[in-house]
Amino acid sequence: MKIHKSEEWKNLLTSEQYRVLVEKGTEKPFTGEYDKHFEEGAYVCGACGTKLFESGNKFDSGCGWPSFDSAIPGSVEFNNDDALGMRRTEVTCANCEGHLGHVFPDGPKDTTGQRFCINSVSLDFKKGQ
Ligand code: FE
Repeated sequence: MKIHKSEEWKNLLTSEQYRVLVEKGTEKPFTGEYDKHFEEGAYVCGACGTKLFESGNKFDSGCGWPSFDSAIPGSVEFNNDDALGMRRTEVTCANCEGHLGHVFPDGPKDTTGQRFCINSVSLDFKKGQ
């Protein structure tokens, strides 16, 4: 079932989660809980709990945000984002439309070549899943 963003989310999310997931903000680089986090498990949507990324696809890009070379197929959607005078591809949760981050074509060449640059605050980590 598709969950839609609503005022109700203001009660369910922290103000920082709301700022990023709903208002499409960005957390400060190198400050997120999962930037330097490399335990085995799954990363789920911070709003609706849908499984989005596997720890095996996470890598340290040095950019200051959690980086993945791929998302779980079907779990995310891609949207053109022309804000800030540049063309970027926004990544959102396919279930609830929460803003996760952006994807760039400068990821690891030996895997997908993609870098999903994702806000920690948009994610929750589930150990061992
Ligand atoms: Fe979600």
